[in-house]
Amino acid sequence: MGTTANGTSAATDKATSTSNGNATVDKGVDFANYFCTYAFLYHQKEMLSDRVRMDAYYNSVFNNKHHFIGKTVLDVGTGSGILAIWCAQTGAKKVYAVEATKMAEHARQLVKSNNLHDVVEVIEGSIEDITLPEKVDVIISEWMGYFLLRESMFDSVICARDRWLKPTGVMYPSHARMWLAPIRSGLADQKMSDYEGCMDDWHGFVNETNTYYGVDMSVLTKPFSEEQKKYYLQNSVWNNLHPNQVVGTCAILKEIDCLTVTVEDIFKIEASISLTITKEDTRLCGFGGWFDVHFNGRKENPAECEVELTTAPSVDDGTHWGQQVFLLHPPVRVNEKDEVLVNFSMSRSEENHRLMNVDLGFQIKLSSGKMLAPVRNKFYIE
Ligand code: SAH
Repeated sequence: MGTTANGTSAATDKATSTSNGNATVDKGVDFANYFCTYAFLYHQKEMLSDRVRMDAYYNSVFNNKHHFIGKTVLDVGTGSGILAIWCAQTGAKKVYAVEATKMAEHARQLVKSNNLHDVVEVIEGSIEDITLPEKVDVIISEWMGYFLLRESMFDSVICARDRWLKPTGVMYPSHARMWLAPIRSGLADQKMSDYEGCMDDWHGFVNETNTYYGVDMSVLTKPFSEEQKKYYLQNSVWNNLHPNQVVGTCAILKEIDCLTVTVEDIFKIEASISLTITKEDTRLCGFGGWFDVHFNGRKENPAECEVELTTAPSVDDGTHWGQQVFLLHPPVRVNEKDEVLVNFSMSRSEENHRLMNVDLGFQIKLSSGKMLAPVRNKFYIE
């Protein structure tokens, strides 16, 4: 998964709403803002072309046939149907492939043309609303958004697990982790100069509007600058980081056991971590966040072949998830062995439960023992 849809459009179907953690979600609005992108083959193709993602899911299924042969499977958010098809090809007895969007029709076609329609049943509907005739042995889903939790689709997987997984059932993937690392990046300077350029342009606009149309707009300078500051400086940035841009140790922000986690556990992610700078005389330009997921089966029924899907900075193209970068303005000079003490907190945006707000405070402890002044920044993952 991983879309760039944001929460700016609105639909009016107020009739149906669902409870999602603490928030009540308007389904019509949710469909217009979120699900709509997944109805395009163009977007499904982007995911289907991510080799790291595809290889991980493919290997996890085909190298762990004992979890699938003769079993019942639920694919939450089947999209094009790819995961359901693999489960059937590996020997599943029955696969329920649930998809909220019209993509379900394409999935049904694909299943039929691959001669798997006796095994795979495509069901169009939200997983929260549909009913299955039986409980399943395996739940498979590709629910991960940017920085793991953006899109909040994992809530739907948890809901499916609690309703439809047998007590002995297995989750694919079984575990997930969120990571953070200190980074250097030219993006910090670039975003600042974009913001400054945009404000220069505004001042010219204010002068011209006054000269040509007789209205002084300068009272709007402050709100405009706040709006643009948020856009250029506070939004986290999608980036494919190279490992040598990571200037220190990375640390885990959150570990999730997909079999036992609750929506409350992931509603707010809070962590205090310490990162040690490993590069000599460099700039701390921000923090890079990424995730990995694991296919380990469960303790009583482990995977024969454990598979990891990581979205960490890589020398290759990486994944379509890239990393989420939280930039500092201005960057801070740091040196080897300095310690960065981070207080991280991520919660859901009040306007759209699928988007995230991040509160990232940090303090640098120099290798001499001296503490620099604490810094606190708010970021938006939109
Ligand atoms: N399984 C496919 C698609 C993953 S993208 C693959 O791996 O290629 C996630 C899909 O889940 C999207 O198509 C989206 O529309 C669907 N989805 C998200 N939330 C859902 C829900 N609550 N019920 C049903 N489908 C959902």
